[in-house]
Amino acid sequence: MKISVCVLPGDGIGPEITAQAERVLAAVAERFGHAVEIRRALIGGAAIDAVGVPLPEDTVAACQASSAVLLGAVGGPKWDDLEPALRPEKGLLGIRKALGLFANLRPAVLYSELAASSLLRADIAAQGVDVLVVRELTGGLYFGEPRGEAVVDGERAAFNTMIYRESEIERILRVAFEAARRRRRQVCSVDKANVLEVSRLWREVAARVSQDYPDVELTHMYVDNAAMQLVRAPHAFDVVVTENLFGDILSDEAAAITGSLGMLPSASLGASGPGLFEPIHGSAPDIAGQDVANPLATILSVAMLLRHGLGLEAEAQAVEQAVRTVLGRGLRTRDIATHGATVVGCAQMGEAVLAAL
Ligand code: NAD
Repeated sequence: MKISVCVLPGDGIGPEITAQAERVLAAVAERFGHAVEIRRALIGGAAIDAVGVPLPEDTVAACQASSAVLLGAVGGPKWDDLEPALRPEKGLLGIRKALGLFANLRPAVLYSELAASSLLRADIAAQGVDVLVVRELTGGLYFGEPRGEAVVDGERAAFNTMIYRESEIERILRVAFEAARRRRRQVCSVDKANVLEVSRLWREVAARVSQDYPDVELTHMYVDNAAMQLVRAPHAFDVVVTENLFGDILSDEAAAITGSLGMLPSASLGASGPGLFEPIHGSAPDIAGQDVANPLATILSVAMLLRHGLGLEAEAQAVEQAVRTVLGRGLRTRDIATHGATVVGCAQMGEAVLAAL
């Protein structure tokens, strides 16, 4: 298969971590006999410095012409005082919009080797965590109209609108069911159907869509309960699917319980066209250029790119297995190091994953 990937290194540790991820991508492609073409483009502060805007048109075109996009991270103190429209984050929002990405997939995996970093009680961590949160990204309270401020009975008030169309609910549910088919075949749809009309429609559509996936079990859970169960019994979840606001909160909660920011990848998918794959952490300006950043979240984003972007499951598993092997050998970057571990730098960690592949 011919694979074309547009890499957007971005700012801070972005160039270091994407360099290691690119090497892993090239190696896995070679091992499985795929021809890979990698192009690089500017985004964020790097693009502002070079051409004056956070998302140059060339970058959008390069992404649209690729089969997938791999992003490092954007932002840093150097650009914090620019006017909002010219800030690095605008590049990220812009590329998500240009690619029509509506589904955000965030796996939270607790590697047994890293259980000591988890915020969970030891007996709960021992049962393992392997949850995929599928969050709707373009609708709900964050974008609903009308929104704004008004004067009500002589005092200031503000309002937002939570609105979803059936088609928007259906397409995110399908992403969740498809993902579950590649996992343990359980979808938990999270809502607040005891209070919200939006959630009642969500539940109805979920039940209807589930009829197309008789091999996948669908359950429903209220969001307050889901927030609690994620820390009490995270091993009980496979795929969690939910709307934008609930997903924003629950995906951060799921990430936090693993305790390892440098280990967590993400994918954002649209209806068609290239998906965007990136670590969930930021550009870590405090450690940029020191060769101490953890490249594993970006390398695991390559695994998501292979699986969800290109449908290459065996290749994705090979990358994930290589990461497990390296952790099993006791290699750690500084952020995940515990007593007695062998601490390595960013490039050495990339090298170790390559060797394990
Ligand atoms: P951050 O995720 O960049 O860093 C938080 C802490 O985690 C820092 O101490 C950092 O050193 C550490 N860290 C993060 N990734 C690491 C890695 N791979 N290896 C080792 N340590 C790692 O969050 P922040 O400090 O709040 O933000 C820094 C900049 O990143 C800001 O400009 C912010 O706007 C931007 N940001 C970008 C994205 C993105 O591009 N998607 C996401 C979040 C923040």
